[in-house]
Amino acid sequence: MFKVLVSSCLLGEPVRYDGKSKGVSHQILDKWQSQGRIVSFCPEVAGGLPTPRPAAEISHSGRVLTIDSIDVTDAFLLGAQKALSLCLKNKIKFAILKEGSPSCGRNEIYDGSHQNRKISGMGLTAELLERNGIKVFSEFQIEVMDLIVNKSS
Ligand code: SF4
Repeated sequence: MFKVLVSSCLLGEPVRYDGKSKGVSHQILDKWQSQGRIVSFCPEVAGGLPTPRPAAEISHSGRVLTIDSIDVTDAFLLGAQKALSLCLKNKIKFAILKEGSPSCGRNEIYDGSHQNRKISGMGLTAELLERNGIKVFSEFQIEVMDLIVNKSS
């Protein structure tokens, strides 16, 4: 039975930097939930960061900096590693991660200026998972993932 790693905030858990969630309502997610396929995970909480926490973005140097220029890269990398370990341990080959996040972003992230500007790119967890063969999709690509899973099963 395939399992799917899903960003905790998309499942309604209040783990975002602002202490809120970004829950999505989708019948495919509901189906996977009822089938016991979903594994909820928040890399930033797993990396040891508190909730709420200062907003952070990936800077041009590749370091993750808060709006106050505190370097939180190590916590982000630890969260990414823990996400990968969880996937490997549970043979998880697919993930649905929150678009735009410096950890979970699949197709775009903020540009590091803290000026609310987005660019193409991936968050650190999404990138590490993809590099290790786990297919990552955003919350806007749930149907695409469902199609791929159905084709391959
Ligand atoms: S790190 Fe990922 S799961 Fe955690 S709050 Fe940010 S987007 Fe959601």
